[in-house]
Amino acid sequence: MAMNHEEAKTRIEELRKTLWENSRRYYVDNAPTMSDYEYDQLMHELETLEKEFPDLLTPDSPTQKVGSDLETGGAGDNAEPRIQKEFAQYPHHYPMLSLGNTYSISEIEDFVRRAEKELKGVKFTYSCELKFDGTAICLEYRNGRLFRALTRGDGIIGDDVTENVKQISNVPVTLKGTGYPDDFEIRGEILMPYESFDKLNKEREDNEDPPFANPRNAASGSLKLLDPKEVGRRGLWCTLYHIPSQSVSFPTHDDALKAAASWGLPVSDKRKIVSSIEEIEEYIHYWDKERKFLPYATDGIVIKINELAYQTALGATAKSPRWAVAFKFQAEEATTKLVSIDYQVGRTGAITPVANMEPVQLAGTVVKRATLNNNDFVRDMDIRIGDYVKVIKGGEIIPKIIAVDLERRPKDAKRPEFPTVCPDCGTTLVREEDEAKWFCPNTDGCPTQIKGKLVHFLSRKAMNVLAGEATIDQLYKLGFVRTPADFYSLTKGQLLMLDGWKERSAQRFLDSLNASRQVTFDHVLFALGIRFVGETTAKELAVHFGNIDALAVASKEMLLEVQDIGETIAESVYEYFRDSRHLRDIERLKTAGLRFSMEAKKTSSNALEGKTIVISGNFSISRDEMKRLIEDNGGKNSSSVSGKTSYLLAGSKPGPEKMKKAAELGIKVISEEELMNMLPGTAETKSLSSEEEPTLF
Ligand code: NAD
Repeated sequence: MAMNHEEAKTRIEELRKTLWENSRRYYVDNAPTMSDYEYDQLMHELETLEKEFPDLLTPDSPTQKVGSDLETGGAGDNAEPRIQKEFAQYPHHYPMLSLGNTYSISEIEDFVRRAEKELKGVKFTYSCELKFDGTAICLEYRNGRLFRALTRGDGIIGDDVTENVKQISNVPVTLKGTGYPDDFEIRGEILMPYESFDKLNKEREDNEDPPFANPRNAASGSLKLLDPKEVGRRGLWCTLYHIPSQSVSFPTHDDALKAAASWGLPVSDKRKIVSSIEEIEEYIHYWDKERKFLPYATDGIVIKINELAYQTALGATAKSPRWAVAFKFQAEEATTKLVSIDYQVGRTGAITPVANMEPVQLAGTVVKRATLNNNDFVRDMDIRIGDYVKVIKGGEIIPKIIAVDLERRPKDAKRPEFPTVCPDCGTTLVREEDEAKWFCPNTDGCPTQIKGKLVHFLSRKAMNVLAGEATIDQLYKLGFVRTPADFYSLTKGQLLMLDGWKERSAQRFLDSLNASRQVTFDHVLFALGIRFVGETTAKELAVHFGNIDALAVASKEMLLEVQDIGETIAESVYEYFRDSRHLRDIERLKTAGLRFSMEAKKTSSNALEGKTIVISGNFSISRDEMKRLIEDNGGKNSSSVSGKTSYLLAGSKPGPEKMKKAAELGIKVISEEELMNMLPGTAETKSLSSEEEPTLF
C-alpha cells in the first residue's frame, strides 16, 4: 500500500538512522551486525522513497554520501587496539566514490541500455572485473616512488596509512620501467587472503581476542593499526583497478591498467574487455562459480565503461560514477548437518536457540554455529536435530540457517524440545505479546544476565573499562560484584585474588575504572543497559533531557517527544525508572562519581593557555559548552582555520572545508577525547585492552 507523506517521512527517518548506525559498525568498528544484503535492501527502500517524495531528500542522506571509515567516536566492541585519530588526514585530489550496486541482472541490462542511450550510437566497450571484498586504498606515486597512501575516508578526506601500506609485500615502493607520470594516483583494494585470515583468527582465538567476522573486516582493521610492523605480519595483499582519468592520459581504462602493470603495480589479470550484454552476463556467471576457488574474497563483478573519454562524458553523482556499476553476488550457501541446539541467555534475558553443526567451509571460513533466531523460527521451518540445513554467510558475523533439505531428513531426526525454564537459573520462561522471543524474567537473579549486564557496562562504547569476560566472571564468582556500582568499591586486595593478577594488572584496572568517571553521560546511560536503548538512543535521550533526574521522572508522553523514540523504547525507559532497584543502583553510581548530566566539565585551569582552537562538528556537549570549556581552561576560540590555529578540534561530522584547510596548513586535528586528556583531572589516554569482549562466533 502506498504511503502518505507523513508515513514516508517517519519511515525515511527510521531507515536513515538504521543505515547510519550500521554504516558506522561496518566502516569504523569493522564489526557489522547486519548482512550486506539486508543493508543494501534498506538502502534501496530509502532510495525508492526519496524518489517518490523528493521534498524529503536531504544532502546528508546515506543515499547521497559515501560511507565513511573516519573515526568519529569511540572504538567499537570488536575493534582492535587502534587510535585512528593518530593518522594524519589529507584530502583526496579527486573524490573517492562508491559504486551503484544491484543483485539483479535486469538492472545490469538497464545500465547497459542507459549507457548506450547516453552515448548515442558511438562504439564503446566494457571492462568486466572482479569486485574485490576488502578496503579501498588510494596510492599516490611521485617521481616513481610511493608518496602517500590514503584510505577512502569519507570520500573527500582519507587517513594517511602510507607507512602501513609500505609493509604490504606486493605494493612497490619504487616503480620499474619508464613512462609513468611524475605524479599520479592509482586506486584499488587491500585484501586479506583467506590463508592470512585463518592464521590471524587462530592467533586471536588463542589470545582470547574476538575473531574477525570476515576477511574484509580483518583487512580494514589491520590497515588502521598503529604499528606498521604488525601490519606487515598480517599478510595483507593489494590489487589495483583504477587510475583516475585526470591523473593519466590513455585512451582506455584497460590501457591505463596495462601500463600500471608494466610499472610493477599489482593489477588483476582476471579482467576482460567485452562489448555486449551477453558477454557481461557470461563473465558474471563464470565468476559466480569460479570465485570459490580464488584465494581471496570477492563479492561481485564491476562493469565499467572502458573508454576514458566516455567515462568523463557520463560523469558521476555525489556518491557514485555513472560509468560503472557493481553486480553483487547473493550470499554463498553451504549444506551441513545440524548436530544439536543450545539455548543461550542474553543480557536482557532473551533466549536464543543456536545451532551446532558439523563444520563446513563457507565464504572462506569454517562455520560450525548458526543463529536460529527464536523458537517460532525453528518451529516454522520444522528444523530437526539430524537434519541437513542450508547456511548462508553474507558478510555478516553470524551465519544463518535458511532452509532444511527435507529429502535428506534421516528417519531418526528429532524435533527439538524448547526449554520452558531458563537453562541457566531454572526460572520459568515468559513471552510477552508481540514478542517472538522467550525471556527469563529473573533479571536480577539469573547469573548469565547479571554477568551479561556487567560485561555490557564496562564495554568500550559504554564505560570503556579494561576488562574481559573472564575477569568479570571471576569477580562475580568471588561475590565481589553483583551490580555495576560494585566495580567502584573494589579494592586492590580483592583484585589481587583474581587468577594470575599482579600489582600491575590490578592497578591498571583501577586506573581504568577511575578514568571511566569522566565518561560522558550519554555513554553512562547506554552502559546502564536499558532494554532497547542503544548507543544512538542513549545519546538522543541524554541530549534531550540533559541529566538523569529529568529523564527518570519523564512521563511516557515526554519520552515520545524525543526524536526517533517510539512506543516500545518509551515504555521500556519509563518502566526502567519505576524499578526502585535501578534507582538505588544509579544513586550508588552517582556517589561513585560517574557523570549523570551533559553539562560541560566545570574545571578551570590554564592547560590551554596560548592555544587557539577551532571547533568543528558535533560533540558530546553542545558547541557553546565546548567553547566555554576551552575558555575556562585558558584557550582561545576562533572560527576559521589559519596559520595561527593550534588545533582543529573535530567532533563527529566535521566540516570538510575546515579539515581540508587544516591538512593543507599542517594544523593538528584533535578529537574531543584528546582535548579532555589535556585538561586536568580528566581521563587519561585510554590504552586498549588485550582482553576484549569475546563474541560467540
Ligand atoms: P561497495 O563495496 O558496494 O562498492 C564500492 C567499492 O568496491 C569501492 O569503494 C571499492 O573499494 C570496491 N571495489 C572492489 N573491486 C573493485 C573494482 N574492480 N573496481 C572498482 N571498485 C572496486 O560500496 P561501498 O561504498 O564500499 O560499500 C557499500 C556497501 O558496503 C553496501 O552496499 C553494503 O553491501 C556494504 N555495507 C554493509 C553494511 C552492513 O552493516 N553489513 C554497512 C555498510 C555498508
